[in-house]
Amino acid sequence: MTNDSVLIVGSIALDLIETPYERKENVIGGSTTYALIAASKSAPVSVVGVVGDDFPKKGMDLYKKYAHNLNDLKIVSGKTFRWGGRYRENWDDRDTIYTELGVFESFNPILSPSNQNRSHIFLANIHPDLQQLVIDQNKNPDALIVVDTMNLWINTALDGLKNVLSNSHILLINESEAAMLTGQNTITSCVRALQDKGPQIIVIKKGSKGAILFSEKDQITIDAYPIEQVVDPTGAGDTFGGGFISCLANGETMDEALINASVLASLCVEGFGTGAVLGANKKEITLRKNYLRDRIR
Ligand code: AMP
Repeated sequence: MTNDSVLIVGSIALDLIETPYERKENVIGGSTTYALIAASKSAPVSVVGVVGDDFPKKGMDLYKKYAHNLNDLKIVSGKTFRWGGRYRENWDDRDTIYTELGVFESFNPILSPSNQNRSHIFLANIHPDLQQLVIDQNKNPDALIVVDTMNLWINTALDGLKNVLSNSHILLINESEAAMLTGQNTITSCVRALQDKGPQIIVIKKGSKGAILFSEKDQITIDAYPIEQVVDPTGAGDTFGGGFISCLANGETMDEALINASVLASLCVEGFGTGAVLGANKKEITLRKNYLRDRIR
């Protein structure tokens, strides 16, 4: 499983989600959870992370079902990471109500020998120092490292984040976070500044406007799949990341990885929490992929 397998580090959470229409507590979430569910459709996935002894059985059952290897998922005494988020009517603005690191605060990830040799590593959104600890233990010089982050870490852990970027190959980042991280105000100047920090491939995520991948030789633009009704955008970015890296692990092209990422992200926002991606059927995924494949440019 060394050549086609994905290792994910990120948060495993109990979320409070408030949309203009619904409010739900203790939703099984976190960047790893969304990325795992998406990635497991294309490649075997290993997880490194921690949950507290309050993590519900249905959460563990989900991990057992979708992950291939849980050797490095620890259950310790204490509280699982908790995050609360509130969406406004326009869906684009999200307020963080709280972020409680809980057991992640003192987590020291130790990679078991098999996880030190994965072909693909997804550093999903979590404190950059934890992302770096995973990079430090990787023994595969050919591993492809994809990183995601968020405004909180740009504001509070910039040095650590720069260190991670200098060791990563592909960065997935929102348009507004790219501007925040670089101080630049056009996409091309942001991309140039980000490439100077390490990763040569930059994927700028533009929410309902799709995404653009920039590499040294290529620029690929993908639309978002047009959906009728947003239910809950939580996890769309992580789902995008899991869908993207797992296709690369499966030997597919960048185009196909972007198509898969966008399709799974479109499904994610159509349901509450992980619901719609968990319930997605192959026919619908194929239909959406064909739609985006005709339009990728
Ligand atoms: P997204 O909507 O793609 O940004 O992902 C939302 C998920 O990220 C939620 O399930 C949260 O539990 C998780 N999350 C939110 N803030 C953080 C953070 N600071 N570090 C790690 N995970 C987070």
